[in-house]
Amino acid sequence: MSDPLLSVRNLSKRFGGVVANDDISFDIAAGELVSIIGPNGAGKSTLFKTVCGVTPPRSKRGPDSGKVFFRGRDTSGFAAHRMCEAGLALVFQETEPLKGMTALENAAIGALVRTGSFHEALRLGGQALERVELGHRADIMVDELTLAERRRLEIGRALATEPVLLLLDEAMAGLTPTEVQSAVALVQRIAGDGVTVILIEHVLQAVMAVSQRIIVLDRGRKIADGTPSDVVADPAVITAYLGS
Ligand code: ADP
Ligand code: MG
Repeated sequence: MSDPLLSVRNLSKRFGGVVANDDISFDIAAGELVSIIGPNGAGKSTLFKTVCGVTPPRSKRGPDSGKVFFRGRDTSGFAAHRMCEAGLALVFQETEPLKGMTALENAAIGALVRTGSFHEALRLGGQALERVELGHRADIMVDELTLAERRRLEIGRALATEPVLLLLDEAMAGLTPTEVQSAVALVQRIAGDGVTVILIEHVLQAVMAVSQRIIVLDRGRKIADGTPSDVVADPAVITAYLGS
């Protein structure tokens, strides 16, 4: 078996008295499509932010303990822009497109990681918009896009950085069932293009539809890691969701 694309080793992160991530380990192979689920506050977003080099202000970058390896390198504590250059893109739960700009300009910002030419960035941004089926909305100001379109634009901007690993934090929250269906199709298309994808997602219908594997967090700890059918039948998972 080849080396994992991403390897998280014994990662812990606390905020004051709160242990947001408690000794979490897992590997992600190139080409996998994995979901991370768990109740609110389980530590999912913290995990993504530590892996991708973003941590809140005044907090030390990287894990408090443990390691992150990406593409065979120890990237623990790497800044976000270095992770991005290395091929990792994250769409934050809180992210909103930049106001006062068009959809194309927003997507082009992602491409600036790969090129110093603004002209080339616009070209790559245009390609990224096509991938998320927003090509027809290129010249629309982001303020006029629907919620579903803004979510796709964020994914487009991430794709414009040409990631090998894409982390999506609740990219489907607030979407209608029809919009969720097309978001699921989009994620499958991105994975089909060879991008490894990890989703944090609450929309269980989407999780079950796309995931080859599901990792479950609860109160900072990893409590399950397996196929969708194994994970939903796992007593520890049922307890975490229904309360003990
Ligand atoms: P999830 O994404 O699974 O809902 P989070 O990773 O956002 O969970 O949060 C995990 C825990 O860490 C929560 O108790 C949350 O309040 C806490 N936490 C997250 N970010 C911060 C922060 N910047 N400062 C203080 N506490 C935080
Ligand atoms: Mg979260």
